[in-house]
Amino acid sequence: MKRTHHCNELRSEHAGQTVILSGWVHSRRDLGGVLFIDLRDREGRTQTVLDPSDLTKELFEQASKLHSESVISISGKVRVRPAGTENTKIPTGQVEVLVKELVVLNNADVLPFPVDDPELASKVNEELRLKYRYLDLRRPEMTRNLRVRSKVAIATRSYMDEQGFLEVETPTLFKSTPEGAREFLVPNRRDPGTFYALPQSPQQFKQILMVAGVEKYFQLARCYRDEDLRADRQPEFTQVDIEMSFIEREDIYALIEGLLKRVWKTALNVDVPTPFKRISFEEALNRFGIDKPDTRFGMELVDFTEEFRASTFKVFSGTIANGGVVKAMNAKGLADATQGQIETMTEYAKGFGAKGLAYIKVEKGEWKSPIVKFFNEAEKAALIEKLRIEEGDLILFAADQWLNACEILGKIRLYCADLLKSQGKLTIDANRFDFLWVIEFPLLGFDREQNRWYSSHHPFTAPVNEDIPILKTEPKKVRGQHYDIVVNGVELGGGSIRIHQPDVQKTIFEEILQIPPDMVKARFGYMLDAFRYGAPPHGGIALGFDRLIAILCGTQSIRDVIAFPKTAKGTDLMTDSPAPVEPKQLRDLHIELKVAKKE
Ligand code: ASP
Repeated sequence: MKRTHHCNELRSEHAGQTVILSGWVHSRRDLGGVLFIDLRDREGRTQTVLDPSDLTKELFEQASKLHSESVISISGKVRVRPAGTENTKIPTGQVEVLVKELVVLNNADVLPFPVDDPELASKVNEELRLKYRYLDLRRPEMTRNLRVRSKVAIATRSYMDEQGFLEVETPTLFKSTPEGAREFLVPNRRDPGTFYALPQSPQQFKQILMVAGVEKYFQLARCYRDEDLRADRQPEFTQVDIEMSFIEREDIYALIEGLLKRVWKTALNVDVPTPFKRISFEEALNRFGIDKPDTRFGMELVDFTEEFRASTFKVFSGTIANGGVVKAMNAKGLADATQGQIETMTEYAKGFGAKGLAYIKVEKGEWKSPIVKFFNEAEKAALIEKLRIEEGDLILFAADQWLNACEILGKIRLYCADLLKSQGKLTIDANRFDFLWVIEFPLLGFDREQNRWYSSHHPFTAPVNEDIPILKTEPKKVRGQHYDIVVNGVELGGGSIRIHQPDVQKTIFEEILQIPPDMVKARFGYMLDAFRYGAPPHGGIALGFDRLIAILCGTQSIRDVIAFPKTAKGTDLMTDSPAPVEPKQLRDLHIELKVAKKE
């Protein structure tokens, strides 16, 4: 029995036709001796009707014992459902198939969790879903996610092809060149004691491809990072990785805006307006307290450093005297925040090293706060004016060094937005997408513990041309030609114009980042060599593909858009990996374990 239609195809105009359908038993109901089986395949569902008078006794009995998710084929006649029994919720709801023949292709055992009831399925514990991922993936939402992922991958490839890009695969057995995150190592049997590393990104290869004259490269690249996984990270993930020669930042902005326009149209049929807004790193921090601002709501941070410079409130004036700033934010309508909520916000502030959190609740015409008594009339008037203070507001302060003060309030701003959303005081349209380029990042950050500079993006990012002369004298002030693309407060990706002059790259490695010359040679020698043989100016970007799909599918978790994801502990519960290996395999690799053998 070869199927003639899929389970989302039949409509009233098919009435009278004999069809063959194959799929899974989605549900089975016995109504007064007549069986109703909803048959499901990847495309959808069709109701089939099994009347004992139409089938042999044996077949009918087989059908009545079928467990959910058994695989069957049926053949029968399409008919329009009797009036009043139509199902308007599914596209095939006007018809049903009256079964004449049935083949049980495979019986299913009793399931570890139901896949037919979306309500129930959403409550199933995620570990169980991951262990039986093949069942989880049968749920229509999961099938939908895989479909969106596939469509977007194909749209990306055709867009990049139209733009003249070549898709080039780069190795996944690479060399250890710590770029930041810890790497996965792969022992080399042929030369014991040497290792490959899985790439954190194809960064070096794509730059080498530019030296090779490829000019426009892209790849849907698998990347690996052995980080302690935060809630929504995966040890392996996919990037849309891009590099171009003879370009400037503007070329990347235009390319990516076009790509995202195409992707949003393909996946959501939404027209994304371009060009996207741009905001400097400094402005993003000043206004939103974060370098990936969610600009769909206000509650912007306001600076009060001048107003409080001479304040009798020593926490403020003292911080300012030490080179710090005072910033504040109005969480509109949150004066009724509970003690617990205020404590959570205080913990955020403490997480950044602050001693506490100053705040004012505006209730019953009064400013309730232990610090108000220190404020003079001018200071109060400035607060009212710049924060537009009204009854019911909650005012939060941060007095600290600039970056800290911004980041404290940035974190609290997001927390307050969540509170307001849960109380129905803030609504954000689900179809609103605020795209934003964040630009002009500082090239370097300073690691106080190690007393040295580090690259805020990666060591291949070029400084803004005008800032090259101050690279050695005022590294702090040097801006990088780095850009991030952000949507609704989520970082979709980032990239930069690269250094293509071997001397500048060498200065960055050796003099700024203080990597000893022999180590530079061992790790990056081939790149510096390559740059000596005609490296074009180039730049690129990488977009997090899993995150992109999660946004398009409206899910919080990237695990929902990866067919076989790992848990937060990095394990694959279905295959039970990672797992111990045979002693012989270790002997071949000249590896001796120092860990106690696990049961
Ligand atoms: N390789 C960078 C990353 O993985 C992206 C880039 O600079 O193109 O974040």
